[in-house]
Amino acid sequence: MTSPSIPINSLLRHIEPLQGALTQAANEVVGSGHFVLGRRVAAFEAEFAAYCGAEHCIGVANGTDALELALKGVGVTTGDRVVVAANAAMYATSAVLACGAEPVFADTLPDDATLDPAAVEAVLRTGPALKALIATHLYGRLARMRELVALCRAHGMAVIEDCAQAHGARSADGVRAGALGDIASFSFYPTKNLGAIGDGGAVVCRDAELAARVRQLRQYGWAGKYVNALPGGRNSRLDEIQAAMLSAMLPSLDGWNQRRRAVANRYSTQIRNAAIATPAAAGDDYVAHLYVIRSDRRDELREHLAAAGVQTDIHYPTPDHRQPCHAGRYAGIDLPHTQRDAEQVLTLPCFPEMTDDEVSRVIQACNRF
Ligand SMILES: *Cc1c(COP(=O)(O)O)cnc(C)c1O
Repeated sequence: MTSPSIPINSLLRHIEPLQGALTQAANEVVGSGHFVLGRRVAAFEAEFAAYCGAEHCIGVANGTDALELALKGVGVTTGDRVVVAANAAMYATSAVLACGAEPVFADTLPDDATLDPAAVEAVLRTGPALKALIATHLYGRLARMRELVALCRAHGMAVIEDCAQAHGARSADGVRAGALGDIASFSFYPTKNLGAIGDGGAVVCRDAELAARVRQLRQYGWAGKYVNALPGGRNSRLDEIQAAMLSAMLPSLDGWNQRRRAVANRYSTQIRNAAIATPAAAGDDYVAHLYVIRSDRRDELREHLAAAGVQTDIHYPTPDHRQPCHAGRYAGIDLPHTQRDAEQVLTLPCFPEMTDDEVSRVIQACNRF
C-alpha cells in the first residue's frame, strides 16, 4: 500500500478548524450592508498595526499594490532609482516599474536569499543617486536590516520592507517585520503565513504623515470625496469580508509560525545528504514561509522526491533581470548568487498542518537520494 503524496501546501487543512468562525464572520458582513473600507477594515488595521509594533496600517487590495503604494508614499516617482533583489518573482521589480521608476539590482548573500549589504554598498558607491531600497524578507527570513538601514540612512534613502513572506518574524531585539524600516508591505494572498480567503494586502508604518499619504493614495489620491489631491492615486482597497477573515485568523498566526518553524528545524537537523545543502536551524527571525534547500543536482532530486510522493516547487526559477518582459534590457547585468540559486533552489513541503509522519517521510526521502 502506498501512502498518499505529501502536498507542498494544503489550504483545505489550514482552513478546516476555522471554517465555522469564518463562515459566521462572512455572514455578518453580508448582512451588514457595508462591503468595502468599513468598520471591519478599520478594526483589522488597528489589530495588525499593534501586532507589528507599528502605529499605522492601511489595508489594500494585494501585496503588489502595497509595495507600489509604499514606494509612492515615500516619494518614489518617474525616473527614480530603487535598489531591489532579483530573486523573488518580479514583485518588487514590478512595483518599481509601476511607479515609472528604475530597478537597480543588487545580488543576494551566498547562503541566504536576502540582499547582500556589501553588494548594496557597491551599487551605492558606483551609480547615480538612489531614492529607496526594498528589503524582501524572502522565504520568511529577515533581511540584514541593521546593515541595510544604516547604509540607506547614510545615503538619504528610504527603506521599504517587503514582508509578504514574513508576517510575525522578529529581530534579535524583538522588533517585528514591518517595524524595521520606514514603511512595509504585506500580502494576505491565501498561501501566505497570514492569508485571506482571496486577495488582500497592507501597508504598515510608524510615521503619521506617511500613513496619511498612503491612505489617500489607495483611494484615487482623495483628500476628501472627489478631491484628487495627490498624484499617483490608485483604487486599491481592502474589503470587509477579507478584513473579517483576517481578524478571525490573526490570533492563530504565532502558533502557525511556531509550527512552521518546528517543521523547518526538523528538516535542518535531520536531513543528512552530501548532495543537499539545508539552511541552518533558525530562531524568531525566520517564520518558515518556505523551506528552501539547494542542490547542484536539483532537477534530479526533484524527480526523486516526486517518485517518493513528495511534492516540491521552485522559488524562483527565473531571476527578475532575466524575465522576458524586459526584452534583454538588463542582459548585461550579472548577479552570480542570484543566478546560481535559480538553478539550485528547491522548496520542500512546510506548512503548519503537516503531520510529524509526513515530515519524517520527507526527511527519509531526502536522505535516500
Ligand atoms: C506574494 C508576494 C508578493 C505579492 O503579493 P500579492 O498579494 O500576490 O500581490 C510580494 N512580495 C513577495 C515577497 C511575495 O511573496
